[in-house]
Amino acid sequence: MPESKPPGTEIFVSVLLPLAVEGAYSYLLNAETGNLARGNFVQVPLGTREYVGVVWDASAPRPDVVSAKLRAIKTRLDVPPLPLAQLDFLDAVARYNLAQPGMILRMMLSVEEALYPAPPRKGVQLGSVTADNLPEAFRLTAARSRVLAAAEGGLGWNKAALASEAGVSVGVIDGLVSAGLLEDVDLPVGTNVPAPDPAHHKVDLTAAQAEAAAKLRTAIGAGYSATLIDGVTGSGKTEVYFEAIATILEAGQQALVLLPEIALTAQFLNRFEKRFGVKPTEWHSDLTPATRRDIWRNVHRGEVRVVVGARSALFLPFAELGLIIVDEEHDPAYKQVDRVSYHARDMAVLRGFLGKFPIVLASATPSIETRVNVDRGKYASVHLPSRFGGQPFPDIRLIDLRENPPERGQWIAPPLVEAMTKVLAAGRQSLLFLNRRGYAPLTLCRKCGHRFVCPDCSSWLVAHRFQKKLQCHHCGLTIPEPRLCPSCDHEDTLVACGPGVERIMEEVTQRFPDARTIILSSDLVGSAADMREKFEGIANGAFDIIVGTQLIAKGHHFPNLNLVGVIDADLGLGHGDLRASERTFQLLHQVVGRAGRESEPGIGYLQTHMTEHPVMQALAAGDGDGFYAQEISARERTAMPPFGRLAGLLLTGRERYQVEDQARRLAATAPRQDGVRVLGPAEAPIGMVRGRHRFRLLVKARLDFDLQTYLRHWFSVCGPMRGGVRLSVDVDPQSFL
Ligand code: ADP
Ligand code: ZN
Repeated sequence: MPESKPPGTEIFVSVLLPLAVEGAYSYLLNAETGNLARGNFVQVPLGTREYVGVVWDASAPRPDVVSAKLRAIKTRLDVPPLPLAQLDFLDAVARYNLAQPGMILRMMLSVEEALYPAPPRKGVQLGSVTADNLPEAFRLTAARSRVLAAAEGGLGWNKAALASEAGVSVGVIDGLVSAGLLEDVDLPVGTNVPAPDPAHHKVDLTAAQAEAAAKLRTAIGAGYSATLIDGVTGSGKTEVYFEAIATILEAGQQALVLLPEIALTAQFLNRFEKRFGVKPTEWHSDLTPATRRDIWRNVHRGEVRVVVGARSALFLPFAELGLIIVDEEHDPAYKQVDRVSYHARDMAVLRGFLGKFPIVLASATPSIETRVNVDRGKYASVHLPSRFGGQPFPDIRLIDLRENPPERGQWIAPPLVEAMTKVLAAGRQSLLFLNRRGYAPLTLCRKCGHRFVCPDCSSWLVAHRFQKKLQCHHCGLTIPEPRLCPSCDHEDTLVACGPGVERIMEEVTQRFPDARTIILSSDLVGSAADMREKFEGIANGAFDIIVGTQLIAKGHHFPNLNLVGVIDADLGLGHGDLRASERTFQLLHQVVGRAGRESEPGIGYLQTHMTEHPVMQALAAGDGDGFYAQEISARERTAMPPFGRLAGLLLTGRERYQVEDQARRLAATAPRQDGVRVLGPAEAPIGMVRGRHRFRLLVKARLDFDLQTYLRHWFSVCGPMRGGVRLSVDVDPQSFL
């Protein structure tokens, strides 16, 4: 029997575990662990397992129910605590997004191995045998001598690194070890991450850039602020925020740069290196577990000074974070809709607010939210009026597909073909943009009308001809390219309807057989390295015509690109959701902005059936300000975000009737309150995904309404969902599908 202390003397510790549970669990302090502090990593028993968690409250009040089963903390891990600012952030993210705090902790502990001592790394160093006492018959070849010279200095070397330094194979190293000239050694733990040097290569800023940089610099060290850098693509926004990074490095703090796509990081890394002498540390999902573990540790220990990453980088355990840059702040990729929904831009602002440091948002086409925050004086702004080098923004021309349709079975309209022909003859690049992967969005039988649809989702199967398959873009289901119609058994009756990028590429190769072409779409590029190589090839002029999805639309700098043709400018306007116009404007502006960044001015062609649409008109007239003004007043009129608040509630389940039932029950239990309305339930526009039926409710509230408190109260009144139905909450929803 363990000795039990008299009541009243035990210390209760609440520990947050990375699990989908409501709050922290109570434990007893174990005498051997010593005193604990908030943020300490501990190992605790739960059920039959042990978990790593974080001390939430080191001297929690006596739990309401102290059962005999209250267990003790097992051990404290020998690592620095999770920084308190990061813990406060965890709490705030959970509250704002109505997520379970344990799930946010899970994102923060994405690499649990980082909490344990690193296994020693094996390496080699100079051995006891030297050139003077060589074993017999051992010849000191040139290669071997190079290795010994490189290993000079007494430090241990990783074998592969030494081999590459000396320009030999690892076999040569092994030979030297056998002969005793090198010996095995444990390398010291903890990689030294080279520090970026703020003075490495200062850039001469233009007057406008210098003014913008000065404003950012004064914001540093002055507590929380959010500043928008707004300027056309190529105006030097990156150069300007590099100055803010330089300042924060001088102040001895860490900086985080968020980018919406890892595809963007390649050029970024090189530019950063040019400015600061070393590459920053990248963080995204395409890293090996070992790399992730090292980075997590090094960020935690403050050895990494600058991280560039995808939205999940927000949850790294920064010890001394002092600045976050959100580049392309308007980008939809910042929104995560998963078990935990959150918007990385907004959470970055929250992190800055809690950590009392500045946030910088950069975009050529800011989100309406950010624009309005600037108008309201909540965010500061700096403006870069023109491109560096003085190139004008490309001229945008509309091609009215009603007047100038492509030939039958083709997708590129005659004026665009003509323009491409000229650009090709002039030795410059064209880019055709279509935001749809694959060959065709629909395959049907012309004999019986059979359509290929996904059995588990409300969606068509998209033809991917290059990979000879049909695929569902919702669940990934893939079937081989069919030859027969499964419904009427006829052969050669299947037709592809509509275009995807592969089909555009097919047309390009027919029309321009001699052009060097490349297609870029997320399903056709392999690793991040592969993608980087392709982007570099384009930048270096290895291709004449590029066909791509939105993968190509953002951020890249292609000096020789002169023409951008948008195959279907209307594509994003179809759903008519809240942000359809805004998104379309941003995306098309962005993709056209790839052209004419150096030398000759570029041209953009938009193929559209809606030349009179405000988005098309604004783009053609180069009237961004007019577009924003109009869009903002429309939102204001309808009290839509950012003039009102929304939360999306999605219910899913295997049985349609049960989902509908629960959705109705949920709606019926909604408390009536001033300033809030509950709309729905209604079947979601995409009624089924992965075999789960979907119903939606939309909660619309006044701007000053405490939506989170209302929702929490409502859900507790309603109680848990029944019949296997899952409810997910999306505060500030971006998608309504
Ligand atoms: P943005 O981020 O606004 O798209 P960038 O910072 O990428 O603009 O700048 C576009 C290009 O112009 C880059 O190649 C950049 O190196 C160059 N550039 C911008 N400002 C300067 C400057 N002051 N001196 C030298 N090159 C500059
Ligand atoms: Zn599917």
